Amino acid sequence: MTHNQNTNVHDETGWNFDNSYRRLPDAFFAEVEPIPVPHPEDVTFNRTLAESLGLNPDKLAGMEGAATFAGNYLPLGAEPIAQAYAGHQFGNFTMLGDGRAVLLGEQITPDGRRVDIQLKGSGRTPFSRGGDGRAALGPMIREHIISEAMHALNIPTSRSLSVVTTGEGVQREIEFPGAVLTRVASSHLRFGTFQYAAKWGGYDNLKALANYAIERHYPEAADEDNPYLALLEKVIKTQADTVAKWQLTGFIHGVMNTDNMTLSGETIDYGPCAFMNTYDPATVFSSIDVQGRYAYGNQPYITGWNLARFAETLIPLINDDQEKAVELLQEKMKLFSERYQQNWLDGMRAKLGLFDTEEGDEALVEELLTAMEKTHVDFTNTFRALTYGTFLETSCGRELNDWHDKWQSRLKREGRSEEDVRRRMETANPAVIPRNHRVEEALEAAVSKSDYTVMEKLLDALSDPYDHTKEYGSYTEPPESEQGYQTFCGT
Ligand code: AMP
Ligand code: MG
Repeated sequence: MTHNQNTNVHDETGWNFDNSYRRLPDAFFAEVEPIPVPHPEDVTFNRTLAESLGLNPDKLAGMEGAATFAGNYLPLGAEPIAQAYAGHQFGNFTMLGDGRAVLLGEQITPDGRRVDIQLKGSGRTPFSRGGDGRAALGPMIREHIISEAMHALNIPTSRSLSVVTTGEGVQREIEFPGAVLTRVASSHLRFGTFQYAAKWGGYDNLKALANYAIERHYPEAADEDNPYLALLEKVIKTQADTVAKWQLTGFIHGVMNTDNMTLSGETIDYGPCAFMNTYDPATVFSSIDVQGRYAYGNQPYITGWNLARFAETLIPLINDDQEKAVELLQEKMKLFSERYQQNWLDGMRAKLGLFDTEEGDEALVEELLTAMEKTHVDFTNTFRALTYGTFLETSCGRELNDWHDKWQSRLKREGRSEEDVRRRMETANPAVIPRNHRVEEALEAAVSKSDYTVMEKLLDALSDPYDHTKEYGSYTEPPESEQGYQTFCGT
């Protein structure tokens, strides 16, 4: 099979590519085409997202769309590449690169944003190593559900435009239907892209990459005395914001390797990710994370560790004197824990309906969390119960009568109306999260019965989680037991 490049001048699909990453030095990518598949079929197409990207959903939802999103048909202006990067995987440095993804190009949206359009599962590339370059349907649906849920939860994230099946099986433990997901992100620049450049690229390539990242994500940094130090500061801040939001909603990424951390602060690479039900900082779902390196409670620390790896790559750009450069970077790194702590505490205040700050707030929050851990309660539903005034009926609440009194007097000192407090809590405490058993149920129906209705219903339930008036039925219920629940990397 060969690709048909669309040459129709009256193209109505809305593709509007401008591929800036390709203008970086050659070392940063390999030209590679998605490998055509036998029988593309639409699983789900994100019409709302398509519209916001300036794409025509009516043109792309059907056969032409499925062929495009399977990689059989290259849209006008696409110039496919696989990106080179390295990364620390569970602490060990390795060369990686897009082994099963192809960047079609950068779509310029009607509101002037630039976003990557990437096919994931589109076949082997020069970076595939031993892998087949393909993806199984289950993990792609998981990524679709979780990334769309994250977006609805106001957590910076890549998006999912489409999932299609390929008509081909992929061999894992057993054979599964193959699929391709179309990922949309403000870029796929990773800490690992910088690690790659710093290790093998030489000074000029590293500088070109840093300038590119600044121009693409943080143009204000270019005007600073030391733009590269300013770049680090920006990345520290966005990453601190993102990980605080993870902690505040109970999201566990599961594989926070440096190649999965973006310059933009967007969450990417939904492999073994899952939301925590029962509150426990030691929660780990990923089958390969035996040490708990990426446990819920470790995520802020790991973000800091990853940022330090990113900062190291900038040394040659910061100052000719290496010692001086390290000193400057280390000084900047202090920002991370301050910013994270600030964000987290502000977020927790909002979850408790507090508007102002008081000295004892952190202790108040910690006392609640300690009790929640001890009583094994559901994270999301405990905050909902606080929001709805039903907390004292819960097991945690009964143990925490004194805490509840303290919280109530803290609220009284602010003197806000009950309604203001409730509204604040409603915007900070989601009614619903993608519960693992519901995600699994959607995957199961899709993979074994080609039934996508379970997924669509779940997506609908997750589409506006801060709307507390919607009827959620059993979607708010935690699983009866989660003993032994495991997630897997999407390979
Ligand atoms: P991930 O765990 O998804 O972040 O992937 C880590 C690395 O493995 C990346 O370089 C991926 O491109 C690569 N990879 C994952 N799955 C496959 C596959 N099926 N074939 C080739 N490369 C893969
Ligand atoms: Mg990855």
